[in-house]
Amino acid sequence: MGVEEDLRARVAATDERIARHRATVEGIVASVRSENVDDEHDPEGATLAWERQQAAALLADAEADRRAALDALDRWAAGTYGVCEVCGREIPAERLAVRPSTTRCVEHA
Ligand SMILES: [Zn+2]
Repeated sequence: MGVEEDLRARVAATDERIARHRATVEGIVASVRSENVDDEHDPEGATLAWERQQAAALLADAEADRRAALDALDRWAAGTYGVCEVCGREIPAERLAVRPSTTRCVEHA
């Protein structure tokens, strides 16, 4: 698979993750509302608040990954993909294979 296809596949994959985590967050928010639980004093409310935090953190991760993949696509289009933003040297292909959205070489990671 080429770099651009790989990055597009990553954007699509993060779209799915974002949709899944967003649904989880919304589901928890809805159940908190319908059960009218007290986040701080009700044990069930505390569990739901914790679960909502976890899902929100996963959602934020997925959104950050999506942005990184889109930025990488921009760099690909601009011809600057795979170049370390600190030293300007080419990032080794083995590193890009593992972290396609990286903007830095190992030395400057
Ligand atoms: Zn570097």
